[in-house]
Amino acid sequence: RRILTIESTCDETAAAVINERLEVLGATVATQHELHERFTGVVPEIASRAHVERILPVIDESLRQAGITLAEIDAVAVANTPGLAGSLLVGLSAAKALSVALDVPLLAINHLQAHIYACQMSASENVFPCVGLIVSGGHTSLYRCDDPLDFTLLGATIDDAAGEAFDKVASMLGLGYPGGPAIEKAAQAGDPKAYRLPRAMLNGEGGLDFSFSGLKTAVRYKIAPPGNVEFNQLSLEANEVANLAASFQEAVVDVLARKAKKALKESKLTTLCVGGGVAANAALRQRLTSDAKAAGHTLHIAPPSLCTDNAVMGAIAIERLKGGMTESLELDIVPGPVRR
Ligand code: ATP
Ligand code: MG
Ligand code: FE
Repeated sequence: RRILTIESTCDETAAAVINERLEVLGATVATQHELHERFTGVVPEIASRAHVERILPVIDESLRQAGITLAEIDAVAVANTPGLAGSLLVGLSAAKALSVALDVPLLAINHLQAHIYACQMSASENVFPCVGLIVSGGHTSLYRCDDPLDFTLLGATIDDAAGEAFDKVASMLGLGYPGGPAIEKAAQAGDPKAYRLPRAMLNGEGGLDFSFSGLKTAVRYKIAPPGNVEFNQLSLEANEVANLAASFQEAVVDVLARKAKKALKESKLTTLCVGGGVAANAALRQRLTSDAKAAGHTLHIAPPSLCTDNAVMGAIAIERLKGGMTESLELDIVPGPVRR
């Protein structure tokens, strides 16, 4: 059986065609970075309108790559939670329409579970059970993942997500949008020890929760001291930008790695799976890889192309198809995070 997966939770419009052996027959992602760049963040109304324009061409392109027509699709799956309401509605409406028109089952995808399932897509063995670390634009969470569809929340950010901090710090440093790749690039020329920046909620406090807003503010005050409201990143020297980017990135990586280690220890699990846009970061990947080697646990990080939003990770819907967990047309969007 072949399923068509649809992703429109935030600002990427994506579709893929995948079979039950998890072989990807076609996959397309249309980003909207150029539309949101001048606002240095995703503007929900712009995102949903762009999804409307892109969704059909993106689905068509995935089918073309797979060399099949819509009539050869056996199920349609869509990410209905969590995400931006207007964005989610576009994908859900398209999926429902296709399900009715083709008379094939409709399947739901939890976008966060899908971010972890991205690890399964490149692994030769079953990656579950595992500790799942999701580091994305909207989430920074640790889960106990007993199987692909059974997640228990262990800890999460109490303020900014890691990706959000990357985006905001990049904006402060005048590095453009999206901030993650821009900071990573600038950091290559910088010294990660140049600035001492805070690592919140380590040393036993906060359990497995995270906080990144203080780190963001600390970077702000390195650019210009408190009280000096008129800060201007253009007055920063290139080496200061590089050093701030490197020091910030190092602080985020350090916190993520240490909390992941703590989650593995407390849960007595020996496999760590990492997904979400920030998992594309090379410094994070290197640190997690060396930590795993030192501690002797198994590490799966989603391949970089499956870290940021995509529909290939929607292959998790095959688990639901196999389990007969199909949806009725009553299926609705759930914009807020599902805590379970
Ligand atoms: P969520 O999955 O929580 O709903 P999202 O779907 O918007 O949020 P993703 O597309 O998974 O998030 O990730 C986007 C985020 O990842 C952005 O904040 C971006 O800056 C960050 N990011 C992308 N590449 C990198 C990188 N190389 N280093 C650090 N951060 C990165
Ligand atoms: Mg995105
Ligand atoms: Fe995402």
